[in-house]
Amino acid sequence: MGRKIVILLGHPGAGKGTQSRAVVRRLGIPHISTGDMLREAVASNTSFGREAKQKMDAGELVSDEIVNGIVAERIQQEDCKKGFILDGYPRTVQQAEAFSSEITKDDQLFVIEISAEAEGLINRLVGRLMCSNCGAIYNVQSRTPKLEGICDDCGVKLVRRSDDREDLIRERFRTYQEETYPLVKFYKDLGVYYQVDGMRPIEEVTRKILSIIDNGEALTPTPKGGKQSFA
Ligand code: AMP
Repeated sequence: MGRKIVILLGHPGAGKGTQSRAVVRRLGIPHISTGDMLREAVASNTSFGREAKQKMDAGELVSDEIVNGIVAERIQQEDCKKGFILDGYPRTVQQAEAFSSEITKDDQLFVIEISAEAEGLINRLVGRLMCSNCGAIYNVQSRTPKLEGICDDCGVKLVRRSDDREDLIRERFRTYQEETYPLVKFYKDLGVYYQVDGMRPIEEVTRKILSIIDNGEALTPTPKGGKQSFA
């Protein structure tokens, strides 16, 4: 049995992190968020963390080399044997091409875009709160924790992301449109691509994503190094 590989695409704030966590609970495969990994590298002040920080503070993308490297290393770990969910990766066509060589013919690939109009997401992002420990996502208006400022799951303080500022949000949207949106065509051209409406209630979006993974036809890629053709 190959791995189940789920790639979630979508604007910042479309719900990739929230939905990934729901899928993890259901499928028991790990959630790999390049944004979370980069924030950890920044917090521990590693050499690539310092390089990444400059880009993240500007709402721009960190270099493909760094990100491809951390993902390639992460997916070799034992917990990824049955599959994994990628949140925020790939984010450029170059990253998608690099990632193609990590997939084998036994794997099942599901590329799901959580679509949403950028304007509708600004309020979501400026009101977003995140658990500094487990990464759970809340919102000051629409998804409040039981105890103000505290994560329901682990009791740790909630924080705002430093890039959830309106000017940086607009820059991140621009980056998404220019560099990441072309992936929709990239994966459509490969034959299987799914879209769900990210403005629907969270639980409904989760149901749709799970039904795609349960019933949808997955991409069956050719072996490493082979030509990309999908039957
Ligand atoms: P996210 O948590 O996915 O919104 O990512 C936060 C920031 O991390 C982004 O604005 C980028 O600067 C950086 N980042 C995350 N994932 C990637 C990626 N796949 N490629 C390049 N930069 C990334």
